[in-house]
Amino acid sequence: MGNIEFEKIKRPENIKLPHMLDFYPLEDEKSTRISQFFKNLKEGRLTTTKCKECGNLLWPPRIICSGCLSDKLEWVDLGVEGELYAFTEMKAGPPLGFVQDVPFCIGMIKIGGLLISARIDDARYEDLKIREKVKLKIVELEDGRVFYRFRRIG
Ligand SMILES: [Zn+2]
Repeated sequence: MGNIEFEKIKRPENIKLPHMLDFYPLEDEKSTRISQFFKNLKEGRLTTTKCKECGNLLWPPRIICSGCLSDKLEWVDLGVEGELYAFTEMKAGPPLGFVQDVPFCIGMIKIGGLLISARIDDARYEDLKIREKVKLKIVELEDGRVFYRFRRIG
């Protein structure tokens, strides 16, 4: 996974409690039972949970299968390249901590058999095309938390 882009990002506001207002979730083992998801992201891997009982691929990652209620889940890689299925541009009213980034693009991305939403970095709305390939990109906050985004290829 050597060529996954990692970018350190800064936010102008230091968001304090309640964390519900903070877009980036708490990622450590004490705070979430899907901390493995964030550990994998730090290694450049986008993963989710798959049910060992019924085969459901779950997104976002869960600790219980929403199909059969089994807790026998395994982590699977979704890959690092996806296809842009739909997109839009945020021009106003972004979530807390994103004001300085406006305008930015958000897309629905087909990857690993799922359709997930994510930010598309380094692109303007006018440049994007349906079905174009996009690649995983990891952003890291100053406090060490990470999150996934995508960027155009090429
Ligand atoms: Zn299941």
